[in-house]
Amino acid sequence: MAWTRNVLRVNLTEGTVSVEPLNMEWASQYLGQRGLASKYLVEEIDPRCDALGPDNKMIMVTGPLTGTMASTGGRYSVVCKSPLTGTIACSNSGGYIGAELKNAGWDMIIFEGKSPLPVYLYIRDDKAELLDATPLWGQSAWKTDELLHQMHQEPQARVACVGRSAEAGCLYAGVINDLHRAAGRSGVGTVMASKNLKAVICRGTKGVGNIKDPLRFMQATEDAKKVLRDNEVTGQGLPAYGTQVLMNVINESGAMPTYNMRETQFEGAHKISGEAMHEPRPGDGKPNLTTNAACFACTIACGRISTIDQGHYTIRNRPEYWKSSGGLEYEAAWALGSDTGVDDLDALTYANFLCNEDGFDPISFGSTVAAAMELYEQGVLTNEHTGGIEFKFGSAEALTAAAEMVARGEGFGLELGLGSKRFCAKYGRPELSMTVKGQEFPAYDPRGIQGMGLAYATSNRGACHLRGYTVASEIMGIPEKTDPLVTAGKPELVKAFQDAAAAFDSAGICLFTSFVWTVDDIATQVDAACDGEWSGEKLLEVGERIWNLERDFNLAAGLTGKDDTLPKRLLKEADQFLVAAAVT
Ligand code: SF4
Repeated sequence: MAWTRNVLRVNLTEGTVSVEPLNMEWASQYLGQRGLASKYLVEEIDPRCDALGPDNKMIMVTGPLTGTMASTGGRYSVVCKSPLTGTIACSNSGGYIGAELKNAGWDMIIFEGKSPLPVYLYIRDDKAELLDATPLWGQSAWKTDELLHQMHQEPQARVACVGRSAEAGCLYAGVINDLHRAAGRSGVGTVMASKNLKAVICRGTKGVGNIKDPLRFMQATEDAKKVLRDNEVTGQGLPAYGTQVLMNVINESGAMPTYNMRETQFEGAHKISGEAMHEPRPGDGKPNLTTNAACFACTIACGRISTIDQGHYTIRNRPEYWKSSGGLEYEAAWALGSDTGVDDLDALTYANFLCNEDGFDPISFGSTVAAAMELYEQGVLTNEHTGGIEFKFGSAEALTAAAEMVARGEGFGLELGLGSKRFCAKYGRPELSMTVKGQEFPAYDPRGIQGMGLAYATSNRGACHLRGYTVASEIMGIPEKTDPLVTAGKPELVKAFQDAAAAFDSAGICLFTSFVWTVDDIATQVDAACDGEWSGEKLLEVGERIWNLERDFNLAAGLTGKDDTLPKRLLKEADQFLVAAAVT
């Protein structure tokens, strides 16, 4: 089985919870997590509904391998219609709460309606109840996590919740779990807050215990773990440097989006790289990185745990930030760093802590700040708009002040919380927004990695690296090297990555395994765990089916093929480095 076959339905308007069986026909077609929850959403909501209205639904969902001994099998996703893009949204997170939900006996939780008052959902195995969240409303995600553990005296329970940014309507707020893991993209946290749902706290003690062929599954997962251990990316690079292993690599390849994507190389990249996180700081002589960390069952352990120099200006008023917390991943380091021109590693770490503490997406936030800096440079935005802050490229003070305002939903932070598309449109310069379908770009400039341009343009949730990561082939040569500066062959490459990513996501494992595992490696594990027969070929069919389902939702929501494009800057403006590279 691997699925628990139980769905928890929570009607927030009525304040009721009910149990229903999982639709196994859909499970056999869409596998789990991203695919299966998307099927439920498509069947249950009007794609044209207001994403922040009661007719939108929010689904927390696990995959069949979530909570099992499969490496990285701790993933869960939040699926809903996005308030940022108007498309279907699926935001995936690691940590431990996915496994906890599964061990409590639930494949998914469907939240519908809107509560008249703030509530949270408490789950302990079969028991699930909505409780008053009034004391939690207005608290950060970190404080909410702490308070819920105090209230329930359940140290092993796991919490997923929203912070103040979501409550204030920041359109790229995420759902934070386990303090520094996030279903971070597309504003899924904003949807959660719009329903007056502050948190889910869950403790599961039942165990998964429903594997089709336990001995074969044990062997398949052990074999697959060895493959991860023996590979230099998943066995050495990611544990040592995290995804920050990419900072210098992408910068040297000329695909580092910089200064609101005006340039493709950042002169300060080495100062904010994974290597720099290991080096002694000038201030206290300690490295930024304390240790690496792993999500549930993960044998890669790419997570970063960091501290800030206790003498740094950011923690004068926040001394508790001296304590270690979730450090910079490559996506956060790029968006907060090179795109804004800030090369102060401590300032970036501080802004990243704030993103986790109050639950907002560092990619969308950093990109929106970068757009604001370009508007400021052009004189469109002045100190009157920013509350007196000089919003210059390279200003660590502007970046960290902006993060504080978005975190608390205060002042100019409310405007930055609109996201780059709405923000630039408000100031009459929509062409300065670096977005697709309203979602901000991740850390790979498509002028330097052509396949990513197509992947971004056609992504079903707006600009996103996780929907078709052709970087693996074009930069890293996985599974084989393709030329990043040509377009020939890229449609086929993009489609192959898109279908595979949908299958990986839907199994309940981490996409980082795809640096090494093929769909056949996933199929071996899924087939030993789940009813039915599962091959790599079948998983790719499932991936394609999921992709088309998402696409149909978006078309019904009002999007068209005209939305599958890139900003004019990326289509028409050649960066100087790329011109030089083409000439030499
Ligand atoms: S590879 Fe990293 S993000 Fe993925 S499950 Fe492991 S620790 Fe979490």
